[in-house]
Parts: sequence; structure tokens; C-alpha cells
Amino acid sequence: MLIIKDIYNLNTYLKAFKDEGYSIGYVPTMGALHEGHGSLIEKSHNDNQKTIISIFINEKQFNDTQDFEAYPRNKGDDYNFCEKHNVDIIFEPSAEEIYPKEYKSIHNSHFQNILCDEYRPGHFNGVVTVLSRLFTIIESDKVYFGEKDFQQLKIVEKLIKENFPNLKLVPVSTVRSNEGIALSSRNRKLSKKQMTDFVSFQKEVVQFIANLDKKTNLIEANKKAEEFIKSYEKFDYFEFRNESNLSLEGNLGDARLFYAIYKSGVRLIDNLKL
Ligand code: AMP
Repeated sequence: MLIIKDIYNLNTYLKAFKDEGYSIGYVPTMGALHEGHGSLIEKSHNDNQKTIISIFINEKQFNDTQDFEAYPRNKGDDYNFCEKHNVDIIFEPSAEEIYPKEYKSIHNSHFQNILCDEYRPGHFNGVVTVLSRLFTIIESDKVYFGEKDFQQLKIVEKLIKENFPNLKLVPVSTVRSNEGIALSSRNRKLSKKQMTDFVSFQKEVVQFIANLDKKTNLIEANKKAEEFIKSYEKFDYFEFRNESNLSLEGNLGDARLFYAIYKSGVRLIDNLKL
């Protein structure tokens, strides 16, 4: 396994792979790796001869400096994790490498003013900016994204369609703990007690969804969702949206429940299908 920090060296190895005719799968991450990332890596191994993962905590997508500073970092563990998952290359660039002085930020114009875009202004501009740069550098055949970050997945789908026609996007289902919690780097910020509370919350949410009829329209369903969440300590959103266009149209059969809640200052997101 190679750990590469600069674009010049990366290009040398990528060129060698391409000259051999190897197909390349790419998994972008912000590190603090867990089996959710592992599932993207394994999917890439199934589809490609070589798998590259990037680890880059992209400050541009944090609308809150404190959140950026507190984001979990654990290099040594990440290297072991990648070794265990037979990753071929870890690309771990510096911010200077990714953003040369003349590099211009990109504006996201899709799925705006809803869900995470409403509550994290500028977040998706940062996401499409770093991904455009990484996709251009790596030029992989396929790229892997988790459904855990569903709005991100939809935005990346648009980005690729408009700007990277040769790149194939592969969505991967959310990996959960035995208790039903979506694995996330941020989970490690929770104490044991906070995690126990979060598990209880998640079980109640699953039960709430299970009691609804798939034919219920989203307007009605969202009144129930509002009622369910109103006493919760702190949340940004908790609502059903159509999974194909993230609108409030249609019924629960075509929808997912999207939530962003806070557990003692830690922001946790998930989406669940009926
Ligand atoms: P992150 O490091 O949080 O930016 O995530 C990198 C990639 O891993 C994104 O495409 C995420 O959607 C995906 N991912 C994160 N958690 C999970 C999970 N529990 N299951 C599947 N994919 C995930």
C-alpha cells in the first residue's frame, strides 16, 4: 500500500496503473475510517483492479471553524484500516496541494435551501469544490459514495453528469451498527451514555416509521414527523422527502425520512426508508 501526499507522485503511479489497463475505483473520505468507508472500499475492489482512497479534511466544507477543528483525526488507525482493506493507494494531500492560490471555489446550484444546505450554508459549495479538484486529479473510472449522506450523493450525481461524463458514480447502502445506528466518524465523539440515548432515539424513529402507511402523502406524513420530533432537545430537520428529487411531493412509498439532530453538540445525520 502506498501513502502519497503530492499530486506529482500520485500521477506517476496512476499513469502506471492506467498504462497496464487497470480500472481504478476511487473512494473520497475525510478519514476517521470505519466499516461504512470499508463497504465503499470493498465495492470498489469488486468492480476494479485498483482502489485509491483519499483522506482530506476539507476545511472549505465546514461552515463552523470549531466543527472543523473538532473533527476526529486518527492517522495511524486509518493507515491500518486501509492496509486491512487492501487499499492500493492512500492519497493524503495538504490543503496547499489541493488548493493552489489561483484555484477558484465552485458554486453548487442543486437541491439548495433544503436539509443540510439550509442549515449549513456554503457546505455543499465546499463539497463540490473539493470533489471537482479530486476528480480532475485522479481521473478514476468509478467513484463510490454512501447513501448515508443522501443529499451529498444527489448533488454529486449532478456534478458528475454536468462535468465528468466519463466518471461512473456508484452509490453504496448505509452500513449500520447492530443497534441500527448509521456508522459515522462523528459517532466516536459520543460518550457511552450519549450513544445509549442515541440508540433509544433511533429505535423510536424506526418504530415511528414502521407504524406509517406507505400510501400516506408527504404533507400528512410530515405533520406526524413534526409532532414526533417537537420535544427533542435540538435538531435541524426531521422530515420526509421524495427520494428521487428531494421534494415534498408524493407519498411515503417513494420517500425517505431525513434527519439532522444534535447529541450534546455533536451533529448526527441519517436517512431511513420505509
Ligand atoms: P466522510 O469521511 O464522512 O466524508 O465519508 C466518506 C464517504 O463514506 C461518503 O461517501 C459517505 O457517504 C460514506 N459513508 C460514511 N458513513 C457511511 C456509512 N455508515 N455507510 C455507508 N457509507 C458511508
